[in-house]
Amino acid sequence: SELKPVRIAALLRNVHLLLKQQAEEQRMRLKIFLPDERTEVLADAEQLEQVLINLIKNAMEASVGKKNASVEVVAYAPEGERDRLRIDVTDNGPGIPDDVLDKIFIPFYTTKKQGSGIGLSLSKQIMRQHGGSIRVKTQPGETTFTLMLKRPGG
Ligand code: ADP
Ligand code: MG
Repeated sequence: SELKPVRIAALLRNVHLLLKQQAEEQRMRLKIFLPDERTEVLADAEQLEQVLINLIKNAMEASVGKKNASVEVVAYAPEGERDRLRIDVTDNGPGIPDDVLDKIFIPFYTTKKQGSGIGLSLSKQIMRQHGGSIRVKTQPGETTFTLMLKRPGG
């Protein structure tokens, strides 16, 4: 895959368009905080979009049915790091227990009845191909997956 400068606001707006109806049907809030229109990352746009869809779908699946279910996506340049962009995907689902957390990036590992267990392992592979990273921080009632991406010229 080829990495090119990609305008992340436009990409995130597209992801929002793809998922907002499902969020409405499931009565959950899906809020995306966009960076400046000109902000670019080095990416394969299709693959990065797939990673974001994977993370947001997981977040929606984790919080669906809950009162005030909410998924937030925030894209921003981390403090003092103008050469990278950070994207946080946060849900207010139950959180990930320690014994599950150890395995979530293993191919085909799933805790869902109809799950494939492919989303996170593929996402990790894609982020590696981007020279970036994917991390998770979780506690009861809140889970955040964090992507780090390179920006052109960084
Ligand atoms: P799948 O969604 O098909 O189960 P994934 O690779 O996307 O496969 O996720 C693997 C597992 O990680 C899930 O089955 C679930 O147990 C856990 N997981 C992922 N995201 C979240 C989240 N936001 N909240 C709680 N658990 C999660
Ligand atoms: Mg998944």
